[in-house]
Amino acid sequence: MQNETMPNFLKNRAFLTPERTAVYFKEQTLTFKELYDRTHETAGQIQAFGVQQDQFVGVLLKNHLDTVVILFALQLLGVKAVILNNRLSPAELVWQLNDSKVASLILEDSFAEIEQEINQQTASLKTITKERLFQMEAAMPAIKDEICLSQICTIMYTSGTTGNPKGVMQTYGNHWWSSVGSALNLGYTKSDCWLCSVPLFHISGFSILMRSVIYGMPFVLHERFDVERTIADISRKKVTIMSVVGTMLSRIVEKLEDRRLPEHFRCMLLGGGPAPLPLLQACVKKDIPVFQSYGMTESSSQIVTLSPEYSLTKLGSAGKPLFPAQLKIVDENGLPAKASEAGEIIVKGPNVTPGYLNRQEATEEKFHAGWFSTGDIGYVDEEGFLYVLDRRSDLIISGGENIYPAEIEATLLAHPAVADAGVTGIADAKWGQVPIAFIVKNNTVSEDELQQFCLEKLAKYKVPKAFYFIEMLPRNAAKKLLRRQLREWVADK
Ligand code: ATP
Ligand code: MG
Repeated sequence: MQNETMPNFLKNRAFLTPERTAVYFKEQTLTFKELYDRTHETAGQIQAFGVQQDQFVGVLLKNHLDTVVILFALQLLGVKAVILNNRLSPAELVWQLNDSKVASLILEDSFAEIEQEINQQTASLKTITKERLFQMEAAMPAIKDEICLSQICTIMYTSGTTGNPKGVMQTYGNHWWSSVGSALNLGYTKSDCWLCSVPLFHISGFSILMRSVIYGMPFVLHERFDVERTIADISRKKVTIMSVVGTMLSRIVEKLEDRRLPEHFRCMLLGGGPAPLPLLQACVKKDIPVFQSYGMTESSSQIVTLSPEYSLTKLGSAGKPLFPAQLKIVDENGLPAKASEAGEIIVKGPNVTPGYLNRQEATEEKFHAGWFSTGDIGYVDEEGFLYVLDRRSDLIISGGENIYPAEIEATLLAHPAVADAGVTGIADAKWGQVPIAFIVKNNTVSEDELQQFCLEKLAKYKVPKAFYFIEMLPRNAAKKLLRRQLREWVADK
């Protein structure tokens, strides 16, 4: 469709503002023109390797300038990037490579062992390390001058918290509208600079790359999250916005002690999971401008965001939908819930995926009349602010009352001897289900003490009936708690 066509994002950005800084990585700084030139050459090498337009190509790379170049090179060629999580085990990677039916895979030089294993298990897949790729004689690349908004740009697998991960198809339009929606809410100024120390293979990191090229904004890329470097670079590189998950923000708050972040720093975009209230309160005290957000791989990053002016009055809320998006809370029959009534969160918007790759059934299950069922439970207050409670699949129903494990976990985590906590439900003859807790302790504490602690803070039916002390909680590669595994453990007991 003609009205869905736009100039190729990076090529256009290099044409519009060639001299502006695109990216800072370690000691290197690249303008958009320099980034485009490197990307153009790499596109030629990828083409010489045999990759063709419209193919699906896997990338298994770390946060590095080369990764930015490779990802944009694939866009220049109109190749769909299946962006893999480099923390996955070889077996999980093989699963995703087979699931997405990629033709070839570009991977990090240091992943030789993984490469071997993948080659043994996926007969027809062609692999190449980035070192070998960069040594290839470049062909004259067939650059796609235009992109179509409905075309697939990337495939990103969900974290697999509730089941097998699913390949989310993200179109150019999804990324475009996600960037526009974010700018309309957070604002954009010429002095903005975004720090990316979240993984590029995750939508939280990849969306920064897209915003950079769409806004013409520099971003600072870190290989991994390092709290000292973060604080130093916020000052040195004049960072104004940063994306974080809760654990990163806690580390920043701790490290800052009595210090403050510089004035120019205007937005700490917090997402990925529930935010503990004590952390949000600590940020208010330290004047850290936290924007709480709610989003998922399927919504190509944040879809609901809370501005800091509401940090106190709406503490714990994820905010309101971004301008192009909508949300509703519905009951089991799909009917709209009343204000403050909990139900499933459903979302709609041009940033929401058209569906899962090679998963017709899962797609049909999750989409109804253009609305995407998130599988999360939440409520919206009288003024339209969203509060996320938990995942529907983790809900515990005890004596007819809904119990959200996240609430109990947050309570337990406030105990000084609790390093980590996971809550799930077990069958109970009297109540149907009752909650139980798995605890990782960092100090001596007894089951009785924890029970007492919970009784002081929670309604009695929410207090776990048993506490199991364990070494480590089961978490996936995104560090998210796998409550389904806790349920399996209980079943084995
Ligand atoms: P899978 O879909 O495979 O089970 P996943 O849902 O964990 O994995 P992601 O897309 O990375 O994969 O994560 C999105 C989910 O993270 C949301 O659906 C929600 O459950 C959770 N989440 C995100 N933001 C928030 C928030 N502000 N509060 C609570 N939960 C959140
Ligand atoms: Mg999900």
